[in-house]
Amino acid sequence: MPANRLVIENCAVATMDTDGTEYASGHVVVAGHRIESAGPGPAPEDLTDVVRRIDGSGHLLTPGLVNTHHHFYQWITRGLAQDCGLFDWLTTLYPLWTRIDEPMVHAAAQGSLAALALSGVTTTTDHHYVFPRGAGDLLGAGIRAAAEMGLRFSPTRGSMDRGASDGGLPPDFAVESTEGALLATEAAIDRWHDPSPESMLRVGVAPCSPFSVSSELLRSAATLARAKGVRLHTHGSETVEEEEHCRERYGMTPTELLESTGWLGPDVWMAHCVHMTDSDIAAFARTGTGVAHCPSSNARVAAGLARVPDMLAAGVPVGLGVDGAASNEYGQLGAELRNALLINRLGSHREKSLTARQTLRMGTMGGAQVLGRQEETGSLESGKLADLALWKVDGLLHSSIADPVAALVFGAPAPLTLLLVNGSPVVEDGHLVTVDEDTIARTTRAQARRLASLAGLTPPTPPTARPV
Ligand code: ZN
Repeated sequence: MPANRLVIENCAVATMDTDGTEYASGHVVVAGHRIESAGPGPAPEDLTDVVRRIDGSGHLLTPGLVNTHHHFYQWITRGLAQDCGLFDWLTTLYPLWTRIDEPMVHAAAQGSLAALALSGVTTTTDHHYVFPRGAGDLLGAGIRAAAEMGLRFSPTRGSMDRGASDGGLPPDFAVESTEGALLATEAAIDRWHDPSPESMLRVGVAPCSPFSVSSELLRSAATLARAKGVRLHTHGSETVEEEEHCRERYGMTPTELLESTGWLGPDVWMAHCVHMTDSDIAAFARTGTGVAHCPSSNARVAAGLARVPDMLAAGVPVGLGVDGAASNEYGQLGAELRNALLINRLGSHREKSLTARQTLRMGTMGGAQVLGRQEETGSLESGKLADLALWKVDGLLHSSIADPVAALVFGAPAPLTLLLVNGSPVVEDGHLVTVDEDTIARTTRAQARRLASLAGLTPPTPPTARPV
């Protein structure tokens, strides 16, 4: 008989299982790291070893959200290049990013992770691809921050090997050698990757984008990931400029380039996928390649509208992502539920638009599928890992909406009463319990200023008040 049971009952439950089972009033029993049972009505009264019983009246219980795309280090470069499209935004920020070091990345990861946890995220990825010489253990800094906060983590070792002198977008001083990037990626997998079913840490391989890496790096990275049994991640089809770049250099669309280098398959997921042809979508569906849909970031850099309803209809696995905080200062995945729902209604006929439940599915089970963890997390079912979010939906901003899923997805961000990761609380009553929020706020501000000063940026002067 498992010990240390935690019971949540008397709440609405959206399990996000295959049938979309929901209970108007239901319960979930957690035993150790796993969900023991989920069902209608209150939990059985004769359960033994119950260490905590939570009355979830006025709440909606969902699986924890899964964030499928991020660049943690950008937390300390927010609010810059405010009015740029993607390529100008990148060329403005590359020189700043090449001055990051380990204390900066640790602080930025703390800020990014805090924003995610406070919006209901239990599993997140991170795509780190800037490795200045002598900067310290940057991948390790993010891994340490995730362990301290207690989130389930899938960091990816990114890389760039094609600088401006070789026709790439980043300046030459921002890139690594092809061989150096591959060796460091292999070392990161050997050091950190944990393939076990309850793993809190899975490492992926992630060359940055078609316009910053060589086709040789793409090919070798795919071979390396498959030899090690880890997943592949990159950016794809984000902007019109990227498509033009690929056609000019390779005579192919980004998807054709990625396919030609071994980059379509059930072990691959790509961020954005905004400019996809019908045949690109069919290729993703045929191969099981996943998509990280990042609506706020796509809007921030004016990348365009991804064809998410078409992808879902074709059977493409789609999850949600916040993307790096320099192109999404909000940094919270809870808000992306609403943004994904609304933005996708701008781009399609009414009958093809997303529903609240499809959107919540993308944010939970869709994300788990994209990260290859659909057997372990993403839904509230007996035997799955105890990653769940308890949202308060009877307060001022939500109480007049009868459908709790609509309250969560259409409504304002709902207060988070409890976030459990692997059976342990990370958020209680809207606050982090594993780390100190004020310390993180101070540290991220100090490191953002340190970076700005190293890069020679002067802090912007606030606008002076006009005399009346
Ligand atoms: Zn990105």
